Amino acid sequence: MSGGFEVKVLWDRCKGCGFCIDICPRDVLDFSDALNRRGYHPPIAKQPHRCVGCRLCEVICPDFAIYIEERREVETPHPQI
Ligand code: SF4
Ligand code: SF4
Repeated sequence: MSGGFEVKVLWDRCKGCGFCIDICPRDVLDFSDALNRRGYHPPIAKQPHRCVGCRLCEVICPDFAIYIEERREVETPHPQI
């Protein structure tokens, strides 16, 4: 089972430019209906399962308002012999 990737948005840091939405090759992101405190619509992951973790959204964001976290499986520790 793969861990997958999680899109994290720093909600009030976003200025709603949409660069991250436009650059995503997997059509993961879209504008949220909600406004942040600055009056912008930040992105949300509308199709989170499609994210491949390329981090283009993270790299292009001028405001460091979006990043990707990799979900890892918790490994069962090997017993000490
Ligand atoms: S990491 Fe890549 S695939 Fe995932 S949301 Fe960002 S641009 Fe899209
Ligand atoms: S690129 Fe950054 S500032 Fe622009 S919409 Fe995406 S998260 Fe917001």
